[in-house]
Amino acid sequence: MNAELKERTEDDYEAYLNEGDTVNVLGCDYNVGTLLRDIDPVRFSCGYSDWESENPVWMCSECDDEHDSESEAEDCCEEGL
Ligand SMILES: [Zn+2]
Repeated sequence: MNAELKERTEDDYEAYLNEGDTVNVLGCDYNVGTLLRDIDPVRFSCGYSDWESENPVWMCSECDDEHDSESEAEDCCEEGL
């Protein structure tokens, strides 16, 4: 059993959103994640819950590689045995 579900926080969600577009307000660019967290924490929190449950990240406990599914993480370091 090599798969571990990776725990992610609201900080991770903010960073994930910040990888996308910025929003320009009166000539200043703002990161979407940071902006949303500031102006609408409730919506940010809901978005985080959905994101966290719909996009689980599994880690191989042998090498810490990240995978989209539990079975991929299980198989990660199984090759060649
Ligand atoms: Zn591995």
